[in-house]
Amino acid sequence: MPLVIVISGIIFFLLLILFIIRYGVIKQKPEDELENQSIIHTSGIYSIVRKSPRENIDAIKPTSEEISQYLHDQTVDIENNEVTEQDKRILLSFWHKSLDNAINEIEEGDKRGIEFYYYDFLEEDVVCKKFISKGHYITRENIYAHPELIPPFHLGCKCILKHHEGTEVTPDTAKLGLRPFLQDEELLPALPNWKHILKT
Ligand SMILES: [Zn+2]
Repeated sequence: MPLVIVISGIIFFLLLILFIIRYGVIKQKPEDELENQSIIHTSGIYSIVRKSPRENIDAIKPTSEEISQYLHDQTVDIENNEVTEQDKRILLSFWHKSLDNAINEIEEGDKRGIEFYYYDFLEEDVVCKKFISKGHYITRENIYAHPELIPPFHLGCKCILKHHEGTEVTPDTAKLGLRPFLQDEELLPALPNWKHILKT
């Protein structure tokens, strides 16, 4: 008789443990799923807003080799000014410096949650003039969707990217001449051909 009670006790105890495990698993599952969803959601936003364009820029912009190869056969710029070997070296280093500056501006902006950038010019730029004006702005989302929007746009390009503080373009900023560069978020506007040379 005591043996039956002991065995019954063990069985009851085992069933109790099984019940607790089962109940615990069912109760826990939705919480796990919720947690996973929020991680994916967060990482999704992170990848759009914070991913530096530096990693993929080589697929968009010509490389040093391509530029050097192209410059090798060139003798004049778009305004028919002579392009010497020294000019070519300057054009190449200026290209890299400009691109690096533009990406730095975006990376620094990302640290502070900057959402708007606008184009400005170091000097008059007869190549870009036909496409972009000072004050044309693009959003961080535009840059993510179209990294082609990052200057420089051609050899000797004087276009630079500047961050704009604030999370919206208000009538005040519109007064400063800020206006959207993209008429359609999906469509990349025409941009200069990188092979156009503008000597400094
Ligand atoms: Zn330009």
